[in-house]
Amino acid sequence: MNKFDYMEKHGYEQIVYFYDKTTGLKGVTCIHNTTLGPALGGTRLWNYDSEDDAVLDALRLARGMTYKAAAAGLNLGGGKTVLIGDASKVKSEAYFRALGRYVQSLNGRYITAEDVNTSTKDMDYVHMETDYVVGLEGKSGNPSPLTALGVFHGIRASLHETFGDDDISKYSFAVQGAGQTGYYLVKYLIEAKAKKVYFTEINPSHIKRMQKELPMVEYVEPDQIFGLNVDVFSPCALGAQLNDETIPQIRAKIIAGSANNVLMDEEKHGMMIKEKGILYAPDFVINAGGLINVYHELQTYIKDKAVRDIEKIYDRLLDIYRIAKEENISTHAAAKVFAKNRIETINKLHSNYIKR
Ligand code: NAD
Repeated sequence: MNKFDYMEKHGYEQIVYFYDKTTGLKGVTCIHNTTLGPALGGTRLWNYDSEDDAVLDALRLARGMTYKAAAAGLNLGGGKTVLIGDASKVKSEAYFRALGRYVQSLNGRYITAEDVNTSTKDMDYVHMETDYVVGLEGKSGNPSPLTALGVFHGIRASLHETFGDDDISKYSFAVQGAGQTGYYLVKYLIEAKAKKVYFTEINPSHIKRMQKELPMVEYVEPDQIFGLNVDVFSPCALGAQLNDETIPQIRAKIIAGSANNVLMDEEKHGMMIKEKGILYAPDFVINAGGLINVYHELQTYIKDKAVRDIEKIYDRLLDIYRIAKEENISTHAAAKVFAKNRIETINKLHSNYIKR
């Protein structure tokens, strides 16, 4: 892999390798674009097969964060750190404090947070060495209910766009995954008196929790969720769930959920959904509630203020749907246009973030 070619092609600013002899900490921080502000993105710990796999993952995820923050209207750029190692063996206070020192060495150009295989407790150790870390215990708290809240408002916007009326009580829903985000989303839908909610799950304890707390929500087997005759299909499980096999089964008029990278192939499947006449709420726009919440930690955290910003996902999606119609492109492509427009406009003011 020629990294400079890749950086040039996709407009990356910086790749930082670090290795700490004492703790065995080994990783890479990628900064994609800091036009809007410091790069923010979590730290992922994974036993990558090769160094190239690790760098490519960090590069891809950092770029995704640029678009997500830009589309969310935040003054943040995109970055990501990946640590190469076995999560069951390498973690310790010293390990994460060593990471904190590397983060500090970037002097605020990059802000980290938890991600796959790293926790708020690990970030507390990072915080002992740097202030450039968010998602700390006792600050903005668990992001999942706020991600779900953003998805709830995004669903309302999508209903408004499709049916001209966003009253949840008139519609039916199929939710895939009742984990951290899906569970809260179903709660919000039930509170808003949804006409009918179905859900599917593969984790028996999550099925039980739903059946105990919200018995009016009907369980279906995982392979039945796509073909249900509902108004909204809400993917809240894993990525790549919208693909050649599942899209033809979908009968809902709207697809809007929390899952990241839910289109197996962004271009192909984004267009396939558009051609079927289904409205798709782009994942990185509708699921930005958690990021918006954590962003508020960088100022004095006031939950009401964060919630008000999360509610803006409604209007942002309407703007994106308008761009998609005007340019006759998929909503996913329109979301990228929306994000890029914001970066390009601010870029005319200043092109990168350097802390004074
Ligand atoms: P989670 O692991 O808590 O929940 C996912 C649930 O989906 C699990 O309960 C799992 O058992 C279930 N599941 C997996 N495959 C399934 C299948 N084939 N059929 C039915 N159920 C299945 O994760 P989460 O935090 O709720 O995140 C869900 C998605 O949302 C992920 O793609 C994540 O990246 C994305 N996301 C989450 C947040 C957040 O704040 N948690 C923020 C942005 C994006």
